Amino acid sequence: MADSELTTDASVDARSESNADAPDAVMELEGVTKRYGSETAVRDLSVSVRDGELLTLLGPSGCGKTTTLRMLAGLERPSEGTITLADDEVAGPSTYVKAEERGVGIVFQDFALFPHLSVRENVAFGLTDHDADQTEERVDELLDLVDMPGMGDRSPDQLSGGQQQRVALARSLAPEPDILLLDEPFSNLDVRLRVEMREEVRRILKEAGVTAVSVTHDQEEALSISDRVAVLEDGRLEQIGDPESVFEHPESRFVASFLGQAGFLSARVGETTVDTCIGSYDRTLLKGLSDGYTGAMVDVLVRPDDLRAVPANEANANGAIVRRQYTGPSFIYHVELDNGDVVRCLHNHAEDMDVGEPVTVDLVSDHSLAWYPAKG
Ligand code: ADP
Ligand code: MG
Repeated sequence: MADSELTTDASVDARSESNADAPDAVMELEGVTKRYGSETAVRDLSVSVRDGELLTLLGPSGCGKTTTLRMLAGLERPSEGTITLADDEVAGPSTYVKAEERGVGIVFQDFALFPHLSVRENVAFGLTDHDADQTEERVDELLDLVDMPGMGDRSPDQLSGGQQQRVALARSLAPEPDILLLDEPFSNLDVRLRVEMREEVRRILKEAGVTAVSVTHDQEEALSISDRVAVLEDGRLEQIGDPESVFEHPESRFVASFLGQAGFLSARVGETTVDTCIGSYDRTLLKGLSDGYTGAMVDVLVRPDDLRAVPANEANANGAIVRRQYTGPSFIYHVELDNGDVVRCLHNHAEDMDVGEPVTVDLVSDHSLAWYPAKG
């Protein structure tokens, strides 16, 4: 893909980060590949997880997230590459440490509480080297941490979905794992609870001080809970960085499109300007553009909040509304511009326009924009 040749300053920074030997890495994957027969689920993946961070693997269904988590847990063996945990190799060409010997905790998608055990017994389950008093004390500590004091005698079927998730977290944290893995932890909760539990889970992990790797296909969830996000596509690492940097400086069209609703404006780079079908702008509009691009065609990333559409008469319009998405608080209007580019514009719910209406689209954002060399 031509995109890989793009090296803006931002992309150089983020790429070198992923290869850096972070001194405080707790877990490290190096060149990890997993094949199932002729199918490759994970390709040459190198990532290091830093002490105390919450790292989220983000990508569409089938991109290899669960497979990666299972390899970290010791439930699956890499076909190639090595996994290091606290400086010890736990998987490699000649090593394989079993799941129960890795000090890794897992929170499963369905929480997997033992239905016949009380909350207290569920939380105590992994505390095999504690005596009765120590167990009691540790369980109380964890019930406080997950904000369920005094609920130890309930059975799982007396709990709401959010409470079940709290118990599942408490149970996984009880033996003080070096690293906690969470597979799509919010997928079994309804939408409203999901948003509330995102904040709670982050708070609990941070208070426990545990290093965690979660996986999700939900970009909003990844951006809102994580210290860093690793975007995967088709088993490959596309980009890793803090949420702001992957959202604001996506290094590829895939990352740009996967994080938020992306549109692209075709533009011609002039000596001092960038010329698009909605106007000419100063070259500094494009992030990290080098001199070599003068005369080139590029695609400029525009998200709905970067643009506004204003009703116009046919003569002044630069496009027309082709689709109208109502979300409650806002409208997202899809506008086909005169040159055929389709972009999306974010409007307040009171700004009601019709499909077919001629509009003038304007750039309203005041920050520089990411761009990609035009295809073919
Ligand atoms: P994700 O969690 O991102 O949805 P997975 O890691 O589950 O993706 O799967 C990645 C790819 O590997 C998919 O194409 C899937 O079909 C394949 N895969 C996963 N597990 C197996 C398996 N046990 N046998 C064969 N193929 C598998
Ligand atoms: Mg999965």
